[in-house]
This record gives sequence, C-alpha cells and structure tokens, in this order.
Amino acid sequence: MIAIEGLTKVYGSEVAVDDVSMIVEAGDLTVVVGASGAGKSTLMRMVNRLIEPTAGRVLIDGEDAAGLPVHELRRRIGYAIQNHGLFPHRTVAQNIATVPTLLGWDRRRIAARVEDLLRLFQLDPATFARRFPHELSGGQQQRVGVARALAAEPKLLLMDEPFGALDPLVRAKAQDDLKAIQRQLSTTIILVTHDMEEAIRLGDRIAVMDAGKLIQYAPPAEILVHPATPFIGALIGIGDRPFRLLSLETAAQEVEPGEAEGAAVAADADLREVLAELLWSRRAAAPVAGRDGRVIGRVTLARLIERAGTPT
Ligand code: ADP
Repeated sequence: MIAIEGLTKVYGSEVAVDDVSMIVEAGDLTVVVGASGAGKSTLMRMVNRLIEPTAGRVLIDGEDAAGLPVHELRRRIGYAIQNHGLFPHRTVAQNIATVPTLLGWDRRRIAARVEDLLRLFQLDPATFARRFPHELSGGQQQRVGVARALAAEPKLLLMDEPFGALDPLVRAKAQDDLKAIQRQLSTTIILVTHDMEEAIRLGDRIAVMDAGKLIQYAPPAEILVHPATPFIGALIGIGDRPFRLLSLETAAQEVEPGEAEGAAVAADADLREVLAELLWSRRAAAPVAGRDGRVIGRVTLARLIERAGTPT
C-alpha cells in the first residue's frame, strides 16, 4: 500500500501540487487525471523522488520513501513515461535489463527475466531481443518501455502518459494489454493521463486533479454518478454518463433467466455494446452466450435502461 500524505510542491510563487493526500491500495490501478498543468507529473515524480517535496511524505508499505536509499527506491518503484524513454543505442534486451543490471543481478537471472517479460508482452525473444528501439513500431517501443519498468519486479509502477504517443487503435490495444498484465501480475500502478476516457477505462480508482489540488478520488462509477464539481462533470461529458456507466459492466453481470430471439451476445461484452446491439437489431432482449457458446440466459433492454439510470 502507498500512502501519500500532504504532498506539496511550491515553485517560487506557484503551488504545483497543493497538499495532496491519498491511499493507493496494493494491486489497484489508480489513474491520476486532470488538464495540462494540473500538477499530475509533479505529484508522480515526488512519489519516486525525481522531485523532492516542499512538504508532505510518501509511505511505501508504511516506510517513509524519503528514508530509503535511491537504489532501493528504484527497485521498489518502476517508472514508464510517454515516448518510452528507451536508450537508442542499446538493444531491447539491454534496455529491459537496465535496472536488474544496476542492482547487480547475475547474468542468467537477467536473461531469464528479459525473456519472460518479452513473452509476457507478446514480443518473440528470438526476433526482438537484439533489435534496437528504432527497429520497433511505436506500440512495440511502448511495450518494451513498460517491460523495462517492470524488470526488477517493482512493488509500484508509475506511468506518465504511457499511451500518449500512440495512435488510437494501438492505444486501445495497449490499454487492454496493460489491464490484462496488471491483473496477471497484480502490480500496483499509478498512471497519469489527461484523458478521462482512458481513466474510466483503466482505473480501479480515479484521482482528479485541478490547479494542484486533488478534487475527487473515487472509483469510476462513483465519479460518473456523483462528480464532485462541475469541472469534473465537464471532463466526463455529462451527456455521456449513462453510456460510460454501461461500459463498466458486462452482460454476464446482468444476465437473467429466460429466452430471447436472435443472435446471442457474448457474456464478456460490455453493456454499452449490448445496448448498441439491441437497438440496432430492434430487440427487447438478447440471449447471452458464455465462452463455450452455450446460452446462459438473456439480457433485456429494460434492465440496461435501469442500470444506466440507477448505478450502484
Ligand atoms: P501536469 O503534469 O498536470 O501537466 P505539472 O505537474 O507538469 O502538470 O505542472 C504543474 C504546474 O507546476 C504547472 O503550472 C507547471 O508550470 C509548474 N511547474 C512544473 N515544474 C516546474 C518547474 N520545474 N519550475 C517551475 N514550475 C514548474
């Protein structure tokens, strides 16, 4: 668990981060979202001490980060940034090995770790280990950047606009992959973005910042239903709220007994997709099929309307 307590950074007369306190639970993906200049990067960089706070502290599993030697901090906290920050003259394998090498791991352990990570990120080691960053696509570079940040098995991964340089299609895939990898490794992640859509898609909890202050910290559904300020409402786009709420749940969660006509929807389809399918096919209900294709019940338009209007 990471506890941020009263973190503040003042530059001259400007308060870049203003008394921010929040608790990040182990295994959660927490997204810090806000407009440019809101203080997101400064907050994040105080967590790994790239920037020294003016006031406040960060506790990692109860230990004050200020008291940890820097190499220990680098081991516990991985850092991935926009444009990945890969070393251009080092191979993919050497890039991923950066922190383990600094920590003095033996060569076999490093090689095994690099290979595991390449496989985890769907990059065939035989093809990619010896390539240089400029020989990779943008999406591949991004994956190598994240693999490098995870190399020493950090307790916490910080990601600053990690998908910012990717085009929309690659970006959506990269977001899905990150979520899957995070579930698999149960790494605690704090991710910074200016994109509320990305925050809602990825976050277990969302921290909204404005002018240096933390103005709301809550799970996505809570932020959608009860935005703390009109500013947050504007970030969400109030008119889209019902659809975004539906996108947080799957057909499996709202399946009920009974039959329905026509093509089945997948149990893991999100309810926004299901709504679109029902509207397009002009049906009041659709069968829901599990991964094996077996129908497990139905989902109704009436239920979707209820979900979109009265979230939990
Ligand atoms: P964000 O990541 O949300 O875009 P930043 O954390 O980068 O915001 O910046 C927050 C505010 O602090 C901005 O107004 C920025 O101009 C200011 N700031 C950031 N770094 C410095 C610095 N090194 N010196 C002076 N002002 C800074």
